[in-house]
Amino acid sequence: MKQTEIDNLEEMYNHYHGLCFVCQNKATERAHILGQGKTSRKMYGDSNVDNPLSWLPTCQRHNALVDISQNIIAGRSICKIIESIFIDSEKRRLIENIVRKNIKRKEGKNGR
Ligand SMILES: [Zn+2]
Repeated sequence: MKQTEIDNLEEMYNHYHGLCFVCQNKATERAHILGQGKTSRKMYGDSNVDNPLSWLPTCQRHNALVDISQNIIAGRSICKIIESIFIDSEKRRLIENIVRKNIKRKEGKNGR
């Protein structure tokens, strides 16, 4: 892992006080909002997939819940936000809203 990536990871965990974005328990993983799979990379581009704004801290249980790749409209919206001229804190706020909405959608589908 490159030093910049390590710094970005540290910044992400600090921003969320080391807590899972979904349940607020201790975060143990970096979840990718835009998944790292081949299809997702082709759809959204490496620069967006690997952008720190596409990461959120989660516990092991909630990593997959944060992944938005299957929701192409939401995924494209996130790319637009990452590529926009908003400041990072504003981008993060907008992205978080989309992810939260998508989590509700996913949980609804699972009947939880
Ligand atoms: Zn969690």
